[in-house]
Amino acid sequence: EIKRLIEEKGLLAKVDLYEEDNGIGIKKSGCHGFCEAGPLVRIEPDKFLYLKVKVEDCEEIVNKTLIEGKPVERLMYRLEDKVYHEQEEIPFYKSQTRVVLEHCGHIDAESIQEYIAYGGYQALAKTIEEMTPEEVCKEITEANLRGRGGGGYPTGRKWSQVLSYSSDTKYIICNGDEGDPGAFMDRSIMEGDPHNIIEGMTIAAYATGACEGYIYVRAEYPLAVARLSKAIEQAREYGLLGKNILGSNLNFDIHINQGAGAFVCGEGSALIASIEGERGMPRVKAKRTVEEGLWKKPTVLNNVETFANVRHIIMNGADWYKSYGTNGSPGTKAFALTGNVNNTGLIEVPMGTTLREIIFDIGGGIKGNKKFKAVQIGGPSGGCLTEEHLDLPLDFDSLKDVGAMIGSGGMVVMDEDTCMVEVARFFMNFTQNESCGKCVPCREGTKLMLDILEKIVNGKGKVEDLDLLEELSNTITETALCGLGKTASNPVVSSLKYFRDEYLSHVVDKK
Ligand code: SF4
Repeated sequence: EIKRLIEEKGLLAKVDLYEEDNGIGIKKSGCHGFCEAGPLVRIEPDKFLYLKVKVEDCEEIVNKTLIEGKPVERLMYRLEDKVYHEQEEIPFYKSQTRVVLEHCGHIDAESIQEYIAYGGYQALAKTIEEMTPEEVCKEITEANLRGRGGGGYPTGRKWSQVLSYSSDTKYIICNGDEGDPGAFMDRSIMEGDPHNIIEGMTIAAYATGACEGYIYVRAEYPLAVARLSKAIEQAREYGLLGKNILGSNLNFDIHINQGAGAFVCGEGSALIASIEGERGMPRVKAKRTVEEGLWKKPTVLNNVETFANVRHIIMNGADWYKSYGTNGSPGTKAFALTGNVNNTGLIEVPMGTTLREIIFDIGGGIKGNKKFKAVQIGGPSGGCLTEEHLDLPLDFDSLKDVGAMIGSGGMVVMDEDTCMVEVARFFMNFTQNESCGKCVPCREGTKLMLDILEKIVNGKGKVEDLDLLEELSNTITETALCGLGKTASNPVVSSLKYFRDEYLSHVVDKK
C-alpha cells in the first residue's frame, strides 16, 4: 500500500525535484534545534545552514545560493576563523545522534507526501503485513524502550499488559502536556514531525487491539495543535487512520484534546480525568492504567518522544536500537539545553552521554567564559548536578543514584554567578503554584517550604530553617498523593546537598 501510494502519487519525484517550480521550493519545517542561532534556513541538497537570517538577507541568499550555487559565508557558523558550510559539520550537530529528531528541520511538517517519501508509515505497513500484535510487543520489549516522559517504565511491558486484557474498547493516549520550565522536546517533535507520532500511536493500537487514541497537548502549543490536526486529517484521507487501515481489519482513529496549561495534567491520572471532562486532578488509583485507564478501559499512556521512537525500532529492529545508549537505558534521549550555555537548543544524544560532552562539545561551553556551576536536570521534579558529575554517563538509573532524574529532558545550565537558593526558590514557587491542592502535604507543605526559601533568599532565614526544609521535604515526599508532590522537594534537597554553604551564607546566624 505504501509503495502504491508512492508510485501513484509520484511522491519521491515531488519531494526531490520540485518539478513544477524549476527545481526550487520553500518548505516550512519544524525546529532545526539550534535555537541560539535562529531563525535558520537550510539549503538542500547542499546542506548549507544560514544562521540568524533576516528578511533583508533573503535577496542575497536567492541570488548567490539558489541562482549561482555559492554559499553566503557571512551567514554561516564560524568558530575560531573556520566557517562551517554543512549543517552536519557544525559542532552543535556533529556530536549528536538524531533519531527522533531526524525529520525536524528537514521535512515539510505539513506534508504527508514528504513524510511518506522519507520512509514514513512503512513501519506501520510492516507491522500490519508481516507481524502479529504479539511480535510487535515483543520487539518493543526486546528493544527495552523506556518511557521518555520521565518514569522510564518499559514500554513493551505496558503494551503487552494492555494486549493481555480482553475488552471491547482499549485506548492509546499520547501525553503531549509538556509543562516543565525549560523543556520543549515534545513540542518540537509535534511541530516538526507530527506524522511520526500518529504512526507510533497507530502501531501501538495494532499491537494492543485499541480502537481510539487521544493526543493530550497543551493549548499553549497552538502550532503543535494545528500541525497535529492537519496531520490527522491527511492520515485519514490516505487511509492511514480510520476504518480498515491499509486494507487490513485495523480500525483506529485519533482525537486531539487540548489541556489548559496545568502542569499537574502531565500526571497520568490527572490527564485521564481531564480527557474524561473532569477537573484535571490526580486520582487515587486502585488499578493500573494498563488495566483500568481512560473510562476504566485498558489504556496505553506514553509520551510524545516514546511514540516517536517506535517506527525506528520496527524498521531497524531491537538490536539496532540497543546499539545506542547503555545496557539499562538503550536508545537516545532528546534534551532541551538552555541557560548560561553558548549553544542553546534542542539536542539528541545516545543515553550514557556525559554532561561534559553535552555542555562543552554540543553546548559550546559556558557563556562569557564563565565557570560552570550546576545544571538543573528534569525540571521542577529533578535535581541539580555539579562539577563532580560532569563525567557521569546520563541515563535513567545513574541519575537516580545521585538524587536527580532525567525527567522529560529539560536541562538548565547555570554559571558561577547563579544563586542556588534562588534557583530552589524558583522551582518551589513553580510547583507550589501548580499544586492542585487535593492533598494536604503538597498543598500546605510546598507553601511552607516556599515561605522558608523566600525568607532565606531575603536574608531573614536561620540555620534551623535548613533542618526544617529537610524535614518538610521528607514528609511531603512520603505522603503526597501524586508525583508532582512526591518530587516537589527534589530541587531543594539536591541544592542543599551540594550547596549547603550557599544556603548558610544567606542565613542570619551563620553558626
Ligand atoms: Fe495535587 Fe499535589 Fe496532592 Fe498531587 S501531590 S494530588 S498535585 S496536591
